[in-house]
Amino acid sequence: MQPILSKPDLSEMIFNLEQVPDEVWGEYLFARDILTEKISEEQKRQMIAASVRCGYETAEKIKKQYSGMGVKEILDAESVHLVHQEEERIGNRILFALYQSPGAIMLMDGPIERIKNEEQIPQEFRDKISDLILGHELYHHIECHDTEIYTQKTRISLWKFLFYEHKSNVRTTSEIAAMCFSRAINEVDYPTFLLDILLIYVYDKNQAIEMYQEVMALNDNSA
Ligand SMILES: [Zn+2]
Repeated sequence: MQPILSKPDLSEMIFNLEQVPDEVWGEYLFARDILTEKISEEQKRQMIAASVRCGYETAEKIKKQYSGMGVKEILDAESVHLVHQEEERIGNRILFALYQSPGAIMLMDGPIERIKNEEQIPQEFRDKISDLILGHELYHHIECHDTEIYTQKTRISLWKFLFYEHKSNVRTTSEIAAMCFSRAINEVDYPTFLLDILLIYVYDKNQAIEMYQEVMALNDNSA
């Protein structure tokens, strides 16, 4: 890895990340998917586009169905149970939230509190953090109960042998759709994945800066 010459400050990072298009975030997420080697570049591009569309279209449908309701009210109406926890780590990764089928969301209060108390982060993000995380998890709830939705239906073949074929869901398609869904359902005009970088930032600045630089490099490549 290249040495970091000058560290960007937080407001510069946020300003630049706000303009990164959904497709670039999609590429960033795909680069982390364990299946990424099994999918061609063309197939990836198609999957990203379809996932983005699926996220926004699903949000439109839900907004119509629950007209005028905020995310928390929609979760109530869907009988999704919220379980609060302080903090959870998987290895050295911090977990922010987790959807558990058929209808529970585990929400970590620790990271959310850190964001709310970080004065360097603009107020508009601090106010929205829980809703954006819950919007994301609401998408997972909806897709878990809809076998026909793109992110559940789309599978890739991992191996074939004679009459056997092993197929798998592509986790990243769900993550991309959830990100776009949350943006639309919360009516914010920035990519919600930006918040994931801020959530890392309040624990480990250097790691957040590395993520930022990786996203910006992909963004420059796609320009
Ligand atoms: Zn997710």
